[in-house]
Amino acid sequence: MQSSKYIILGGGMVAGYAAKEMIERGLRPGQLAIVSADNTVPYERPPLSKGFLAGKDTEESIRINPEEFYGQHGIELKLSCEVAGIDCARKLLHLRSGEDLGFEKLVVATGARVRTLNLPGKDLAGVRYLRSLEDSKTLRTHAASAKRALVIGGGFIGMEVASVLAQKGVSTTMVLPEDRIWKRFFTPAMSGFFESYYRARGVEFLKQAKLAELRGQGAVSSAKLESGATLECDLVVAGIGVLPVTEPLANSGIQMDNGVLVNEYLETSQPHIYAAGDVANYQDTLYGKRRRVEHWDNAVSQGQHCARTLLGERAPFVHVPYFFSDVFDLSYELWGDPADADEIVERGDLSGPSFSVWWMREEQLVAAFTMNRPDEEREAAQRWLAAKVRVSAVKLKDAGSVAEAGPD
Ligand code: NAP
Repeated sequence: MQSSKYIILGGGMVAGYAAKEMIERGLRPGQLAIVSADNTVPYERPPLSKGFLAGKDTEESIRINPEEFYGQHGIELKLSCEVAGIDCARKLLHLRSGEDLGFEKLVVATGARVRTLNLPGKDLAGVRYLRSLEDSKTLRTHAASAKRALVIGGGFIGMEVASVLAQKGVSTTMVLPEDRIWKRFFTPAMSGFFESYYRARGVEFLKQAKLAELRGQGAVSSAKLESGATLECDLVVAGIGVLPVTEPLANSGIQMDNGVLVNEYLETSQPHIYAAGDVANYQDTLYGKRRRVEHWDNAVSQGQHCARTLLGERAPFVHVPYFFSDVFDLSYELWGDPADADEIVERGDLSGPSFSVWWMREEQLVAAFTMNRPDEEREAAQRWLAAKVRVSAVKLKDAGSVAEAGPD
């Protein structure tokens, strides 16, 4: 039976960044295997709904490490390889092929899969999702000839894909269940800004609207909404969330609840088995709550953290959650967690593309958003959130420099 000292289960961003970190820290050839259901070497996922979809990035340019990196460093990359189960006591991965792989330490980084539409017409050609490189390539091909697209869902995929499609000249309508765009994170003023920005660039919105049925002969040609309205379309892209991939862990004894439960060290309930990335439901010691984060930065940071853990370090994962997005010619960032805020301060002019938003709870900063703001705001946001500082909302609102509102 083949075995490796370390195995990373899942060939996504966690694996790519963990492998890089382990090499930099002296991993020896033959010690690491990456087992991936995907058919290609680990790649960056953010460009799939941005530059790669737009045709600006290439497959090579979005690889985390060059294709030859793995062979050069003696890392075994088992692609298109599905795991059927884990035997934690015997430290074995059972592969669908019937083969077993032994390990000393394992990182579960199985990621997430798209939530799919469940309605009549869901299997028509032209109904697409976006998760993998293959998905992005297929969508790029469809977008090249599409005339009218419906984008279902007003989250990350919805906003980014709608922006790319509109820039490709596809007439694009976003269909949202909510009454405003991206209600989960944005304040009403932020939603208002982005909706105006999108409308000015040709994107239409149907809010508080849900699909009832997709119609067409082989390929989608129209969509019926629950309201009874019918819309013509030759492309439907659904970005309606993702679900953690935990099937390979069923009956393994590893505790799960909305993903794989890990403590602040990213350790599962089974010794020498860790979890990282979209699948890991970890104990966030900064905010004192459990969270499962589905963003690039989390996969990178937890991948690097697990790499150090595999090589013998033991430290808690203490990290301010972060994401960024690029839509049209805008780039924005958000740090922290606005969920439990009791006060919000907006700086700048929310009718234009330069503003920041600061969320506080009991006068402590809990989240910050910046777009086209001075560097001092980006830097203060990160530093203050990591240090859990108290901030004066009144000063933050009115001060010329945010430094006047903080502790330093
Ligand atoms: P998402 O950000 O969770 O947004 C899903 C959206 O779809 C939400 O607005 C949700 O509304 C809505 N929705 C859920 N079920 C629906 C249904 N049946 N019909 C219509 N709308 C529905 O997920 P996503 O946009 O699909 O993105 C997938 C994953 O990729 C996420 O984990 C995201 O973090 C990641 N991603 C990240 C970035 C980035 O960081 N820049 C970019 C692209 C993708 P409710 O909230 O009301 O449920």
